[in-house]
Amino acid sequence: MSRVSATERFDVIILGSGAGGGTMAHALAATGARILLVERGEAVPREAENWDPASVWRDLRYRTRETWVDQAGAGFLPYTHYCVGGNTKFWGSVLIRLRREDFGVLRHVDGESPAWPIDYDTLAPYYDRAEVLYGVRGEAGADPTEPPRGPFPHAPVPHAPMMQAIVNDLRAQGLRPFHLPIGVLEPGADGGCVLCNTCNSFPCRLGAKSDAEVCAVIPATAFPNVTLWTGALARRLLTNPAGTRVEAVEIERAGAVVRVEAPTIVVACGAVNSAALLLRSATDRHPRGLANSSDLVGRRYMAHLATMMQGFHPFRRNDTMFQKTVALNDFYFEGPDTPFPLGHVQSQGRTHGIMAKAVGDTIIPGIPLSAYDAWVARGVDWLAMSEDLPHPENRVTLAPDGRIRLEYQPNNLRAHDLLVTETTRMLKRLGFWKVMRHSHKAKNTTHQCGTCCFGTDPAVSVLDPFCRTHDVENLFVVDASFFPSSAAVNPGLTIIAQALRVADHIRATAL
Ligand SMILES: Cc1cc2nc3c(=O)[nH]c(=O)nc-3n(C[C@H](O)[C@H](O)[C@H](O)COP(=O)(O)OP(=O)(O)OC[C@H]3O[C@@H](n4cnc5c(N)ncnc54)[C@H](O)[C@@H]3O)c2cc1C
Repeated sequence: MSRVSATERFDVIILGSGAGGGTMAHALAATGARILLVERGEAVPREAENWDPASVWRDLRYRTRETWVDQAGAGFLPYTHYCVGGNTKFWGSVLIRLRREDFGVLRHVDGESPAWPIDYDTLAPYYDRAEVLYGVRGEAGADPTEPPRGPFPHAPVPHAPMMQAIVNDLRAQGLRPFHLPIGVLEPGADGGCVLCNTCNSFPCRLGAKSDAEVCAVIPATAFPNVTLWTGALARRLLTNPAGTRVEAVEIERAGAVVRVEAPTIVVACGAVNSAALLLRSATDRHPRGLANSSDLVGRRYMAHLATMMQGFHPFRRNDTMFQKTVALNDFYFEGPDTPFPLGHVQSQGRTHGIMAKAVGDTIIPGIPLSAYDAWVARGVDWLAMSEDLPHPENRVTLAPDGRIRLEYQPNNLRAHDLLVTETTRMLKRLGFWKVMRHSHKAKNTTHQCGTCCFGTDPAVSVLDPFCRTHDVENLFVVDASFFPSSAAVNPGLTIIAQALRVADHIRATAL
């Protein structure tokens, strides 16, 4: 690899263009500051394969080919994507706030969910802005656990007839289903979202899903002061001799290594890669990794306990296209038979036969695709999700060959088992004959968070409440890394809201 002697200079360098980094670029674009947004992947092309389950699920066309290593030393393909917009290109776009109580200590059956250094009221105005920026659709007042809020920027996506019938039946069971808050752009309008059955886990061929590329990166790069480098991998952060400031980032791009300098550096590579980048940037002054005097960089990795569930009825065909409109938080803080939190339930995008076969072949190989097609045509899909509690030994480190090593043992399993049991009962009461379940278990990296937790005490946190590292004065980490606890709802809106909050802080203090 040749070394380029020229050093480039900007006012702010942002590493990673996903929920955190893309949003940060958007929030700073209008300041006129010279911003470099560095993304290791390329833009996902708009092409027929975007909506082809075989390309996405069998051929894994858009996933990274990079392998990570687990605690046993075995390599595995993480469920993650390197591209402009990051994992938001593939998300289900469920954009939901944490509950007010998630910001405090919550006792779980298997341990304690720790408090955040900020409360809900601090983040609420940024949640408002995040919902506007990402065009969130929902209905205030229906979720029994909802924190105080005003109306959503957009009315909810209406339930398809079958989902409306299910909502009615759930209400008859005494439950309180509500419209799942989601970000889709102008459904039904010309050029808008067509409410198809290839949304969650697929990129949108129309650019009508609220992802970070569409909502943040494209508008940000319309500003002449914002430069986007794709295919550009941040290798290391380089500090001054005292180790108090990052002076430059070493970036591998187009077969060369470039040194880029800026007075403000924002790392937003995702919770696993951000931790890995700090660990790779160790120096004499930071021997355990950059900004790691607490020894917490990479530790406390969390990923949610998640089980895909499908209610199956042999004589009930499900012709719903857009199924992801229903949510339940009735068991969020306690279950029917336990005073402890169990988690959140939401309807999922449609499972396609090829998706089911991709998973099924790992359990019983050889079942023909036609059987899976017939099965999923009669199923309604759900996701049961419980809080993953932080544990210092669940951690990201670097393997001797430089690969990412992810050690992870799920915890809070009793709460999740109870949630799955309760959801199974609920689906059986809805008349489904059989309830199928599948969990990606420890290899599910989609909701990764917590690897550089924020807090007020440098001894027990990596970042301060504005996501600046305690140890390095001009270094921020603005992605899912900062979560002290994972809560039990999807993380994206909280990452976006905090990125907007940190952007305000950077604007006021550094630009
Ligand atoms: C299939 C799927 C469905 C999901 N559904 C939902 C959902 O409905 N709602 C929700 O809230 N969340 C959902 N998530 C999770 C959500 O996508 C993530 O929580 C969110 O994208 C994390 O944001 P981030 O900024 O931390 O990282 P990312 O969005 O992953 O962005 C990190 C970026 O950094 C880049 N990068 C990494 N390393 C480097 C490097 N060294 N140099 C340069 N660039 C680098 C990556 O390529 C990537 O673009 C889903 C995820 C998946 C995979």
